[in-house]
Amino acid sequence: MGAGIDIGPVPRSSIPINPAFQWSVGNWMDYFYDGLKEGKIRGSKCPECGKVSLPPRMVCQHCFAKCEDWVELPETGTVESFTMAHVKVGANGELEDLPQPEIIVMVKHDGADTCVAARLEGQNASVGMKVKAVIDPEAENFVNMLAGYRPAE
Ligand SMILES: [Zn+2]
Repeated sequence: MGAGIDIGPVPRSSIPINPAFQWSVGNWMDYFYDGLKEGKIRGSKCPECGKVSLPPRMVCQHCFAKCEDWVELPETGTVESFTMAHVKVGANGELEDLPQPEIIVMVKHDGADTCVAARLEGQNASVGMKVKAVIDPEAENFVNMLAGYRPAE
């Protein structure tokens, strides 16, 4: 008896859609992305309970107050959870194999109370690992301006 469980090939289903979106992400996310253009990571802060959300939220997920305060957060954070991605959604909406598996991390920035999901550079991750944000202000698609994370030295 082997120690591992062989689950066989990963089941896949086709997603024949090719969404092209061009809508406003709203004032909160506009302000967040404007900050990234200047290399600043801005979280929203709840005036009632003081929780800091990154990505920013218009309404606090803890007490539902409107978050009109902002705080600038450091580039550093801690990996709370991670997974390995073997496929991505390609331009035609179909799943494509990645040339190399990628690590997707949930990162809680220092000073924030929520997590950001993004790619981690390299092939090693662990819970509790310190990481640093990789910001690309020139990204063609604004959602890629927070390009991912790399291990912090
Ligand atoms: Zn709150």
